[in-house]
Amino acid sequence: TKVKVAINGYGTIGKRVADAVALQDDMEIIGIAKTRPNFETVMAKDKGFNVYTLADRVGAMEKEGIEVSGTVEEMIKAADVVVDCTPGKVGATNKDLYEKAGIKAIWQGGEAHTLTGCSFNAETNYDEALGKDFVRVVSCNTTGLCRVLSPLDKEFGVKKARVTLLRRAADPGDIKTGPINAIVPNPIKLPSHHGPDVKTVIPNIDIATTAVKLPTTLMHLHTINLELEKECTAEDVESVLAEQSRVRFVGQGITSTAEIMELAKDLGRSRGDMWENCIWNESITMYEGELYFFQAIHQESDVIPENIDAIRAMMELESDASRSIEITNKTMGI
Ligand code: NAD
Repeated sequence: TKVKVAINGYGTIGKRVADAVALQDDMEIIGIAKTRPNFETVMAKDKGFNVYTLADRVGAMEKEGIEVSGTVEEMIKAADVVVDCTPGKVGATNKDLYEKAGIKAIWQGGEAHTLTGCSFNAETNYDEALGKDFVRVVSCNTTGLCRVLSPLDKEFGVKKARVTLLRRAADPGDIKTGPINAIVPNPIKLPSHHGPDVKTVIPNIDIATTAVKLPTTLMHLHTINLELEKECTAEDVESVLAEQSRVRFVGQGITSTAEIMELAKDLGRSRGDMWENCIWNESITMYEGELYFFQAIHQESDVIPENIDAIRAMMELESDASRSIEITNKTMGI
């Protein structure tokens, strides 16, 4: 029998996790919960998902002609695991509900590490999530950093990591935030919280980060600077990164995040998603004993395969990280 997955919060992340779960042979979507009756709710219905909502929203949904399968509480009862994709900090308020129902739960990067005590990246610490009840899949930026820092640390030892994060100001479908014409150092107090977040997955790494918000919606871009323990060349680093299944090298006239997003669309990927870290391999450089490179991260989608692997680890569907990663990659088309 398949593992029954519920999605609480059907926005940017939730709708993508739902589609990715639906592609797996060992899990199925038993329902999605949405607070508002909008186009996404209608789309979920059209895809055949059962739509649930908060008890006080049932009337609003039905008024818009959307048939509701029940309340969030009822959805939880029918599931083995819930993937909470509600907005950051809202997720934490659902913990009581999940605990009372005795259901396993996954939260996203907008929540604090302390909510679950287990922060997850498939390549880095799959084993830590085996059989766990509560897991947090780290943010898009942290996921992107773990995917490169963890293999480089294993191979060469990362003595010191210094990273500048150039962040998209809003998601493409977002009309709430900005800036639309400014560069915003954020946070101004340094270093930024992104470094400590990486340490929730790779505890002993020496990392410091700074972050800047830019008027773009397309992707984040990381400038990565590392001191490594072991002496190595740029080619050695390139060959370790080339082995990572969720890393893609870009070149061939791709000089910006815009062209990467165009490539994702040309590849025919659902929603134009780019699940892999995109590294300009031409940028991988050893300069005065330190490593430098650029990578772009598609914030809306890089955490999606990680959510699938987290479900597999928590439900102990697969005890081997590389096997789970392989299944997820194959089914999603990575
Ligand atoms: P979003 O705003 O796009 O979607 C959230 C959804 O939850 C919306 O559909 C909203 O209607 C619904 N919702 C709000 N309150 C709810 C409630 N009480 N119960 C059920 N549903 C409710 O948000 P998002 O961008 O998908 O972010 C979700 C989580 O994923 C956050 O923790 C965020 O930090 C994290 N995350 C976001 C991104 C990104 O770039 N968008 C990347 C990685 C991780």
